[in-house]
Amino acid sequence: MLLGAHESVAGGLHLAFERGLRDGCQALQVWTRSSRQWSAAPLEPEMVARFRAAHRAAGGWPTAAHASYLINLCATTDALWARSIATLTDECERAELLGIGAVIVHPGAHQGAGSAAGVAKVARALRQVCAALRGRRVRLLLECTAGMGSSVGSSFEELAGMLDAAGERRLGICLDTQHMWAAGIDWTTARGYAATFERFDRLIGLGHLRAFHLNDSKRPLGSRVDRHQRIGDGAIGLAAFSRLVNDARFADVPGLLETPPLPPSASGEPGAESYAQGLERLRSLRGGRRRADPGTRRAADSPDRRRRARSDRTGPGPRR
Ligand SMILES: [Zn+2]
Ligand SMILES: [Zn+2]
Repeated sequence: MLLGAHESVAGGLHLAFERGLRDGCQALQVWTRSSRQWSAAPLEPEMVARFRAAHRAAGGWPTAAHASYLINLCATTDALWARSIATLTDECERAELLGIGAVIVHPGAHQGAGSAAGVAKVARALRQVCAALRGRRVRLLLECTAGMGSSVGSSFEELAGMLDAAGERRLGICLDTQHMWAAGIDWTTARGYAATFERFDRLIGLGHLRAFHLNDSKRPLGSRVDRHQRIGDGAIGLAAFSRLVNDARFADVPGLLETPPLPPSASGEPGAESYAQGLERLRSLRGGRRRADPGTRRAADSPDRRRRARSDRTGPGPRR
């Protein structure tokens, strides 16, 4: 797994790389626009150039943009649905411009229309977004949800339904470890882990699994509540994360932390947010290797290894 984090873009998009380097990232997630506002200023050429230069200087990490929380791809009102499609398309265009590899989006909430109607409507929205992106490289990843309220995408069946009905090669899946746990998918025991990814492979195909969000949980299994905790400090625990970071099937897949600790300073003041501690915890779980060494990372990035990992992942599936 290529370990990284969702870094702040305060002061400039390109500064996320500086923060990522400081924390020890090998992959990065950012917002490219506000997560809680519909409007967004256009990207200036200067911002794009600085971001791309910082990306190159950091070594070309896998990058993702998390899409706005306002987007609801199965909204029941036409105005909100249309706005969601337009905003997600804009998220993808911004990512393309910045050279970001993927946009990660929460599918939405069916608002009482029912799961099947919600899944079908998400697929229709995805087809519209993908139609607007012809010729673009950016991938669009659906994130599994915790199943709060009427949100769709908390089961592999629903996610498979969206991908199948949309039928677009651009699409993939991001699994959030806290959301799976909250949705009642117990991937944390040895048997549960094997069964979870066997089922994912059967229903969706491991080749479509393009990113992880690595979060521990403040709530118990099946709570259906989206409440992240720092890695190792929640109900999931480090033993479960150890299986993930040592799983050869995911050697090339970015694993992104989203819950930074706030280390107190000597005087007891809250310190700056940093993912360094969480990333170090995850690295310490790797078999016999205490920290990421550049030699290993280069090997993981080689085209040869990528090809191997891909062909190892899964046999021919419905969408390959
Ligand atoms: Zn998310
Ligand atoms: Zn979450």
